[in-house]
Amino acid sequence: MTIFYDEVMIVGGSLSSKTCKINSVEVTQYGAGMVAISGSISFPDGRSDYLAAMNNAWSGNFGRYTVSTQMLQGTGGLTAYINKAPGESPTADIGGPNLNLNSAVGATPTQMAYARWAAGHELGHSFKLRDQYTEAGPNSGYENEIMGVDGGKPNETTIDSLLYNCK
Ligand SMILES: [Zn+2]
Repeated sequence: MTIFYDEVMIVGGSLSSKTCKINSVEVTQYGAGMVAISGSISFPDGRSDYLAAMNNAWSGNFGRYTVSTQMLQGTGGLTAYINKAPGESPTADIGGPNLNLNSAVGATPTQMAYARWAAGHELGHSFKLRDQYTEAGPNSGYENEIMGVDGGKPNETTIDSLLYNCK
């Protein structure tokens, strides 16, 4: 994806880009609709397979945006601790570097599916995004959205908010 963007820039010559940071994560917007997210995340307790879940969750076509997320395993960026029991609610501070994700030990397939989705949701909190649900359910407009509902994905509004948070 990165190479593709580079080619577009060279051939077209008209796509401007701008880069900003949320936490230690770098966000580059090419033209109006292409967004590349990259950074490092360490997994001191193992279970780096959540990395793929995070990158998958935050890559794709979301409304007018095409987003490519490539978080790489490494230190100096975010840290994902695997310190929640299967089924327990994972946590992350809004805009903070630390994520607390579910252990896979003893997890059922349903709990693992939740844990992988939740890894993407918690990464959203590291992107300074807030929960978009209450006890009554997802907020209006967030019924299928990653910060609003289990199994949800980013949408155009999500990426708008992410770019707004990026300075
Ligand atoms: Zn949350």
